[in-house]
Amino acid sequence: MPYSDLDFNLTDEQKSMRDMVRKFGAEVVRPAGVELDKLADPVDVIAEGSKLWDVFKTYRELGLHKTAFSKAFGGMAEDMDTMMGYVITEEMGYADAGLAISMGACSMPFAYCQMAPVPELQDLARQYVEDTEANLIGCWAITEPDHGSDWGLGGEDPKCAPSVRGVLKGDEYIINGQKAAWVSNGNIATHAVLHVGLDPSKGMMGQGIAICPLDLPGISRGKPLNKIGQRPLNQGEIFFEDVQLPKKYMIIPDYSLFMEARRAGGGQTPMSGMAVLFGGLAKAALDEGIAYARQRVQGGVPIIEHKNIKLKLFEMFMQVESARSFARRMYTFNAESGASSLLHAMAGKWISTETAFKVASEAIQIFGGNGLSKEYQIEKIFRDARAAMIEDGVNESLALGVADDL
Ligand SMILES: Cc1cc2nc3c(=O)[nH]c(=O)nc-3n(C[C@H](O)[C@H](O)[C@H](O)COP(=O)(O)OP(=O)(O)OC[C@H]3O[C@@H](n4cnc5c(N)ncnc54)[C@H](O)[C@@H]3O)c2cc1C
Repeated sequence: MPYSDLDFNLTDEQKSMRDMVRKFGAEVVRPAGVELDKLADPVDVIAEGSKLWDVFKTYRELGLHKTAFSKAFGGMAEDMDTMMGYVITEEMGYADAGLAISMGACSMPFAYCQMAPVPELQDLARQYVEDTEANLIGCWAITEPDHGSDWGLGGEDPKCAPSVRGVLKGDEYIINGQKAAWVSNGNIATHAVLHVGLDPSKGMMGQGIAICPLDLPGISRGKPLNKIGQRPLNQGEIFFEDVQLPKKYMIIPDYSLFMEARRAGGGQTPMSGMAVLFGGLAKAALDEGIAYARQRVQGGVPIIEHKNIKLKLFEMFMQVESARSFARRMYTFNAESGASSLLHAMAGKWISTETAFKVASEAIQIFGGNGLSKEYQIEKIFRDARAAMIEDGVNESLALGVADDL
């Protein structure tokens, strides 16, 4: 777009990464997202021959799935820096938020496998890095039909304990229960990061985190979820009936110790990435608004020449740049300071998702009637942004979980 980008000091490597992802976003991700969004039945999104698989495969061919994996596993984490992670996430969000989330969730179980002192899980991490066909797909299975915000707010209250339970018998956990239809990649994943209740008397603090292959006997799936926004993102429920999971796959048996170490050790949380990603979507909404205002003629001139449109665009520009700046500052702090501010990460997720929603809504106003038409992408961006205010935690619930840090 014609306005200048303040990231003037990117290195050549960072610029070439940004440009590569931008091209992939414009040529593959955005067009696929637009096409997948229009499919009435979400079953068709994941059908053989769907454009979804072009996105998965090209993402892998470009090596973008390897960025969080160390060289010891065939990855490229050591060649990455904070700004490279930032530009990849923002460009993916700019291209299509739902598909960006799908790609991100995909690597989660395999990234966890790197840290597990279990040879077969470490092999799995290597296999994922080598997999350019998208045969291995991950998901993050937390939410349950009866437990959404409870995951962040339930604490030690036994009433809030997970319904998916794991009972240790010998060398195996016997898993029973159901994860909600909200699990991203839920119908297509081969492996899950599975949050499971181990000691219900400790509420959410009694949970463990396992790597769970989803082809184990006793696992079944529901139908793909049909929803308002981020429609290219597959979501579906997962059922567990007397599933025998090897004990060694429970890589984090004590959640409270894990959370303490995480707070002390620094690093990103999933909300850091969400803040950056939806800053990208907010920018996409602004750019759609500017492009339309330049070409739509009313009163004999392009509408961008009318003062009300000019001021509206300027306000949208300020909001987008404020959200992106906050996200970048928070993301850099969490990556480089050795500490981690959950307070800022949650605030960043709130600011970026609400900015994307507000800016997309204002852009629809600029489009007039055309903003409501399926012929233009702005109504899709609006719906995608709306979903984000609930995705990975309702914004208010996330805020309540950290507000005491003030
Ligand atoms: C696009 C998208 C992608 C997602 N991807 C995944 C995924 O990959 N994996 C996964 O497991 N889940 C995923 N989710 C689920 C998501 O994390 C949950 O929807 C979210 O945590 C909210 O849970 P809920 O929908 O059950 O709402 P609820 O928790 O029922 O909340 C309903 C309302 O009540 C309020 N509320 C709830 N509890 C409290 C409280 N204690 N105090 C005050 N107010 C409260 C909330 O703020 C909210 O306004 C996804 C969701 C979306 C929309």
